[in-house]
Order: sequence, then C-alpha cells, then structure tokens
Amino acid sequence: MSTAATYRCAICGREHPGPPLSYGFGAPLAYYDVSSWFRWYRCHLTTDTCRIDEKHFFILGNIRIPIRGQDKSFSWLAWVSLSCANFERSLALWQTEGREKEPLYFGWLSSSIPGYPETLNLKTMVHTQPLDVRPEIELETSEHPLSLEQQHGITWERVNEIASIANHHIAG
Ligand SMILES: [Zn+2]
Repeated sequence: MSTAATYRCAICGREHPGPPLSYGFGAPLAYYDVSSWFRWYRCHLTTDTCRIDEKHFFILGNIRIPIRGQDKSFSWLAWVSLSCANFERSLALWQTEGREKEPLYFGWLSSSIPGYPETLNLKTMVHTQPLDVRPEIELETSEHPLSLEQQHGITWERVNEIASIANHHIAG
C-alpha cells in the first residue's frame, strides 16, 4: 500500500490511490448464485468460512503472487471449497496452537478472478497457517496464467494493471 501514492488506471485513465496489494471476495461465487431470497436458510457465511446447503464448504485464503524485484507480494484473497472432512478439521483446529503442521488440504478455487481466463475450479492446495493467519492457497502447477504468475511472479506494471481491472470489476 505504501509504494506509490497513485497509479494511472488502465480502464478509465484516471489516477486512483494505490495500487492496493490485495483484493478480496466477500463470498464464494456459488453464494452469489443462490437467490438472495434463499440465502438466509441455504447459506451460512462468516468472514472466513461459508457453507451452502450443508453440502458445500468453503474457506477464505491468500493466493500470494511474488512481485519481481520487490520484497512485497500481491495477493488475491479468494475462496476455495474443501471436503466436508477437511472443512470440519479446519474449524476444529481454528484456535489450536501448531495447526500449521496440518497436512495440505485439496481445494477447488471458488472465486472467479477478473483479468484472467476463468479461474473457477482451478485445483489448489491449502496450507494452514499459524493462529490468526489466513491459509495460503497454492495453485496446481499448470499453464493457467494465475498459476504461472504464482510460480514466476509479476512485474510492478502488472500490479497496476490488476488494480485497474479489479477496481472496476469487484464491488467489495
Ligand atoms: Zn479507473
């Protein structure tokens, strides 16, 4: 947040504050697919977890992307779906010291991230972090641009481009 005061937006051409180094999604995409009339009984959404129909289980984590030549990283705060067993396990360990020793959990990426080919249902591994730190989401190694960015890092120009796209596509 501190590197540049403003950046020139590639979408509207104006100067915006930032660029921010993180963008997030308030809920998994599947939540928005449930009509708002039914959400109150089909969905249970918190700041870090979401359950739908007691059949689909999601957790929020960071897809961290190194910025080349900087000691900072950019991150997408995105949702992944977990198996029921792993979801319950992560809840059971929520307040447990040493939980970062958990084995990796498999997760399907459950956010549609703007500025890439479709990211929904990319395969990921979820790394549980120490107390009070959100999990890290590692994308399966593939030729998908999001996976390539996580593997190889991005330039500062790309951070500005992501900010331009995200500002105009993510409502918060
Ligand atoms: Zn703009």
